[in-house]
Amino acid sequence: MKLGIIGWRGMVGNVLLERMTSEKDFEHWDIELFSTSQAGQSSPEIFNQTFTLLDAHDLDALSACDVLITCQGSGYTQKVHGPLRQKGWNGYFVDASSELRMNPDSVLILDPVNQSVIEQAISDGKKDFIGPNCTVSLLLMAIGGLIQEGHVEWVSTMTYQAASGAGAQNMKELVQQWAFMTNHTEELLNDPAQSALAIDKKVREGYAETTFPQNHFGAPLVGNLLPWIDSAREEGETREEWKAMVEANKIMNLERQLPIDGTCVRIGSLRCHSQGVMLKLTSDIPMNDIEAIVRETTPWTKWVDNNKEATIKNLTPAAVTGTLDIPVGRVRKTKLGNEFLNLFTVGDQLLWGAAEPLRRFLSFIN
Ligand code: NAP
Repeated sequence: MKLGIIGWRGMVGNVLLERMTSEKDFEHWDIELFSTSQAGQSSPEIFNQTFTLLDAHDLDALSACDVLITCQGSGYTQKVHGPLRQKGWNGYFVDASSELRMNPDSVLILDPVNQSVIEQAISDGKKDFIGPNCTVSLLLMAIGGLIQEGHVEWVSTMTYQAASGAGAQNMKELVQQWAFMTNHTEELLNDPAQSALAIDKKVREGYAETTFPQNHFGAPLVGNLLPWIDSAREEGETREEWKAMVEANKIMNLERQLPIDGTCVRIGSLRCHSQGVMLKLTSDIPMNDIEAIVRETTPWTKWVDNNKEATIKNLTPAAVTGTLDIPVGRVRKTKLGNEFLNLFTVGDQLLWGAAEPLRRFLSFIN
């Protein structure tokens, strides 16, 4: 089967290529690479070969593929998806962007938690398969088992989201902000006589400098956090917060709508999202049963014992970055009552949050 890849130069696309290379997926496909800006040029060496890049807006070249996988973004999907379908193209469209997620004909793919939904959709002839929002995927990789077993009445999630979720330029800007502050405070840091408060004052002055890099975030993220992600929706919620409930319910194809709500916060982590989660359980389920269900949720879901040593070793962005692990820790019943469960989870949002569900979908159709 012929597979066309669009958006492979971007951050999500790069991680997709890395994973397809390390899992040798490319051996099962006749591959074409597309570009919106470099058609006709040669690619660097990818999958042990170089490609002549095809034009990502050429509908004939796109429709010669059985499967298109795009990590290019919503604007690109808007431009090509409708025209391709109107032209009669009936191939699989696999997309990392949010553009088609809530379209009734599209299916959200996260096979470790919704394999049966995906298989049913393929046999029903569905053709649009879309990667869910990163935060939602990472949440379900952690607590999907408890939901599937019918133990959860509602979920409140407070997120700690990485800079990479806002795009490559934002991720770079965070590091530029680190570098700016290091230079700005270097003299004081090197002088043992300077107090921490003097350094704090210097950092505040640094934020106000016109050369402080903040074009992409519009605010400092280093030494700071931003409790607003994406655009506003009604009733004071952000679009990122809205996605949690609608996408999670769609992924799991739940009969009863599971309420999920919380506050999404950008923090100065590079590529791992974390979430502090409160679950209202349907009953006082014993901790041993909860542990067994969490451990069984997916092969990547890891139980972290609720102590300081295990937590700071295993339940942090620095421990998880670049891996497929989804640690779940700080699990305890709370003072609100035995049906209120507290937990914390971390995941690499470029892997399970973006590229990995798309890559794995390919094995369901070839
Ligand atoms: P990105 O890094 O900004 O890349 C998007 C495209 O920009 C590339 O495919 C490339 O297209 C073009 N580009 C222009 N100059 C480039 C350069 N110097 N280096 C690399 N690429 C360059 O986008 P992304 O963050 O991967 O996101 C892609 C899509 O995935 C978006 O819809 C996003 O919402 C979605 N998504 C992102 C994340 C995330 O964590 N960032 C998570 C889940 C889903 P050409 O080769 O055609 O020029």
